[in-house]
Amino acid sequence: MRCLVVEDDPDLRRQLEQALSDAGYAVDIAADGEEGHFLGDTEPYDAVVLDLGLPVMDGVTVLERWRKAGLKTPVLILTARDRWSEKVAGFDAGADDYLTKPFHIEELLARLRALVRRAAGHASPALECGNLRLDPRAQRASLNGDPVKLTSHELRLLTYMIHHSGRVVPRTELIEHIYDQDFDRDSNTIEVFIGRLRKKIGSDRIVTVRGLGYQLVDPDQASA
Ligand code: CA
Repeated sequence: MRCLVVEDDPDLRRQLEQALSDAGYAVDIAADGEEGHFLGDTEPYDAVVLDLGLPVMDGVTVLERWRKAGLKTPVLILTARDRWSEKVAGFDAGADDYLTKPFHIEELLARLRALVRRAAGHASPALECGNLRLDPRAQRASLNGDPVKLTSHELRLLTYMIHHSGRVVPRTELIEHIYDQDFDRDSNTIEVFIGRLRKKIGSDRIVTVRGLGYQLVDPDQASA
């Protein structure tokens, strides 16, 4: 999952970037509204954390422009003061959730998990595909109840695929959602990660759909 953080306060920005990457997200950051608007407009994110009080272009304007352009990405706004009018303006501009500063990072992470999960059409916090299970909070995967040891990149790949299980996910979409913009995206690495993941969760769980992409499936369902 890939997340954009638009925050002008350098300390908070660093703190958010660190916490989100520790939580398994690929993270891009922007320090003002114009840069944030540009990134959200051109890169596909699974969630955005958007401060409202921003230099160059304020957060409400950024959000209004994204929504006018048809951007559906879930957006959590950060409001500096506990002012109801700011929250109302944010929601009217298209926000999905908010937090008032100061906030606990754990609460932000929990809200983001819920937003990402709902945007992908899941109601339950634990994500499952047959007897393969992923707990996004603990960042742990299990197969038939037994833990599966995954590297951070394998976990990112599985997280995106299990959010979109049953659907054929194009290779370019996978690349865009598991790497941040500064990552050297050698397209071959995806095949390498898919290969490693198959070894750990079973080769019949990730189907290669030639020319289209990859599909995470429940092999018991497929053979039934
Ligand atoms: Ca600010």
